[in-house]
Amino acid sequence: MSATTASANASTSAKSVLNESRQIERAAMLIEMGARMQVLESETSLSYERLIRLYKEIAGKSPSKGQLPFSTDWFLTWQENIHSSLFLNIYEYLSKGVDADAIEVLTKAYRLYNEQVQALDLEPLLSFTRAWRLVKFVDAQMLTRTQCSKCTGMFVSEMYENAKHYECGLCNPPARAGKSKAAGSLALH
Ligand SMILES: [Zn+2]
Repeated sequence: MSATTASANASTSAKSVLNESRQIERAAMLIEMGARMQVLESETSLSYERLIRLYKEIAGKSPSKGQLPFSTDWFLTWQENIHSSLFLNIYEYLSKGVDADAIEVLTKAYRLYNEQVQALDLEPLLSFTRAWRLVKFVDAQMLTRTQCSKCTGMFVSEMYENAKHYECGLCNPPARAGKSKAAGSLALH
């Protein structure tokens, strides 16, 4: 092996060590945010076995099994929709002009969503994994935001919602909405 090849190899392996430590850092951050395996597998290049070990080490337990249902319905349910919209508005706002990668924007937006919700004395209904899934649905054009014709707020909706007649869950809540006595749920006055 020549000296140049040896040093090229050294720099390649240094790079891969660096990349690997970045991947671990990223996975650790996601685990701390409460991300499920699905998110970790999709957002890092680490092997499944590696991720399981990391998960156990950081979360102190095995990751929960089972996939999230692949459905947009959850985000369109009344109370869930209001939480999803709050998060997505923060996410869209942060995505503009910020030159950070998508997962960083997602994490930042999720932290801000949590702060907002706690300031309102609500339970954060939207988990980090759900938030991640929501952004994927929006990217895949399976969900979008539509402006409410009454309050002009932007809300998570199906594609091609008729914006002229669209009313959000706060302006036009379902009959049973806001009746829940559960702590941290949304109450209408
Ligand atoms: Zn409205």
